Amino acid sequence: MALCELCPRRCHADREDGGLGFCRAGSLPRLFRWGPHFGEEPPLVGPNGSGCVFFSRCTMKCLYCQNSPWSWKGEGEDVSVPRLTEILRELAVKDKCSNWNLVSPTPYLPVIRAAAAPLFAEGIKIPFVWNSSGYETVDTLREYRDLCDIALIDMRYADDATALAASAAPKYVEANRDAIRFLHETLGPLDSDEPGKATRGVIVRILVLPGHADEAAENLAWLASEGFTDLHVSVMSQYTPVYKALETPPFDRPVTAEEYDLVAEAASDFGFERGWVQGFEASGVSNLLGETMPPGHGSVG
Ligand code: SF4
Repeated sequence: MALCELCPRRCHADREDGGLGFCRAGSLPRLFRWGPHFGEEPPLVGPNGSGCVFFSRCTMKCLYCQNSPWSWKGEGEDVSVPRLTEILRELAVKDKCSNWNLVSPTPYLPVIRAAAAPLFAEGIKIPFVWNSSGYETVDTLREYRDLCDIALIDMRYADDATALAASAAPKYVEANRDAIRFLHETLGPLDSDEPGKATRGVIVRILVLPGHADEAAENLAWLASEGFTDLHVSVMSQYTPVYKALETPPFDRPVTAEEYDLVAEAASDFGFERGWVQGFEASGVSNLLGETMPPGHGSVG
């Protein structure tokens, strides 16, 4: 964390000596919530849920973030590495979750690895899910490959201007596509469709954004052009205008049925046969995690 280069921003903040970069993550992992979560894609959720750890802070700043209490505002609790070890132990051994689902882990990868090491020494291991906005570097993915058995990775934008305006993320498209190429090469397609049984592979999430459905379709076209139609794609209609999106058109409105149909049809037309297309009726769901989820430990439905 000295001269931090964990994400594409490469701030070079000395986080070991009190420095803060763009994400404002410190040297200790800050957690907002951890516990079994039942809202992920079925292969990640068995009878006991996916063992989510929601890390505070984020390498992007999305106007429409539903997790803004902890991603933007940094709510949560700093925990020691031994405490994180015990949380990971609890998710695997007591809660019997299908996996460790690390939500926005990138600023904390070195301490997550340190926390997991004692568990590996005891023979305790469930798959790691690297749950990401897709703003990653190949160098970091390669260095922390041991923390990525399953990549649950977004393709949010196909136009850097949109990524900059909506998420303050320069050069998102190149970083995102390089990351997907690397993950396809190293992990490949998901190894199981059975609930809670996935142990390895890639799921690409496509969140349809209002006014930018063409970018979602363009990303599906890019995946197909690279020969990645063997990947599971998860097309999501749940965009809800919240937080700073409420004052920033076109992000201040829900996705229309026409926009959503455009992307759902693109997924079919480009030959994706594995994955999920959320029903349009799921748009505007009210149970947004960041709006309703209390901090600390507990199940999330
Ligand atoms: S993880 Fe945070 S401090 Fe490190 S390069 Fe990214 S934004 Fe900067």
